[in-house]
Amino acid sequence: MSETIFGKIIAGDIPADKLYEDEHCIAIRDINPQAPVHVLVIPKKAIARLSDASADDQALLGHLMLAAGKIARQEGVGDAFRLIVNNGEAAGQTVFHLHLHIIAGREFAEGHL
Ligand code: C5P
Repeated sequence: MSETIFGKIIAGDIPADKLYEDEHCIAIRDINPQAPVHVLVIPKKAIARLSDASADDQALLGHLMLAAGKIARQEGVGDAFRLIVNNGEAAGQTVFHLHLHIIAGREFAEGHL
C-alpha cells in the first residue's frame, strides 16, 4: 500500500468524506474544492502517476472512468462535468497516488480549461 495520504485514506487510517467505494476504487470529496462538486476517484491500487500505469492497468483505468460517470450521475451532474488528471509535479500533481478529479457545478468557458 502506498505511503501517500490517499493510501492512508484507503486503508481507513485517516478519515475522508467518502461517497463511493467498490472493489477497485473509492471516491472522496476534495478537502479544498475548486467547484461546487469536486470529487476525487482514487484506485485502491497505488499507481503514483498516470504515466506509471502499464498495459496491465488497462481495465482498471477504464473502471475509473466508468466509476467517475456513475459518481457524477449520483451527484446530479451527469450531464456536465469535467475530468482532470494532473500527471507530475510540473502539471500540478501534489499527491503521488493516481486520482481523477471530477469537477462540476460551475461555469465552464467553451474551449478553455
Ligand atoms: O492532482 P493533485 O495531486 O494536485 O490533487 C490532490 C488533491 O487532493 C487536491 O485537490 C487536494 O485538495 C486533495 N486532498 C484531499 N484530501 C487530503 C489531501 C489532499 O482532498 N487529505
